[in-house]
Amino acid sequence: MASNQTNNQLRVPPRDSNRRSRTRTPSFLTWSKYTPFSYEFVQDYDAADVKISFQRGDHGDGYPFDGPGPYNLLAHSFPPTDGRFHYDGDENWTVGAVPGAVDMQTVALHELRHVLGLAHRP
Ligand SMILES: [Zn+2]
Ligand SMILES: [Zn+2]
Repeated sequence: MASNQTNNQLRVPPRDSNRRSRTRTPSFLTWSKYTPFSYEFVQDYDAADVKISFQRGDHGDGYPFDGPGPYNLLAHSFPPTDGRFHYDGDENWTVGAVPGAVDMQTVALHELRHVLGLAHRP
């Protein structure tokens, strides 16, 4: 079976739709080490396989966020071929371990497994 690099390529928008994110989540690079996927950033949000955005409250996908607080809903994502990955925009996001804030990359590492089609362990 020939491997086709193109078929395994996930396209990711360069930043979230409302431009609050300044990071190009290195979590993708972590997953690329353990999966047959590779990643490239694309300008066209609609053409991306993985669509990352910040959303607030009831944002129309049937899974409303619940406002700020580190021990409630932080993010969710949808399996292939949907590829949407939503951060709760009301949380205090940061990069790295900061008291009172939530590390974006830790959450991304978890959610990206769902975007790739992996569920939680039974
Ligand atoms: Zn959502
Ligand atoms: Zn999960």
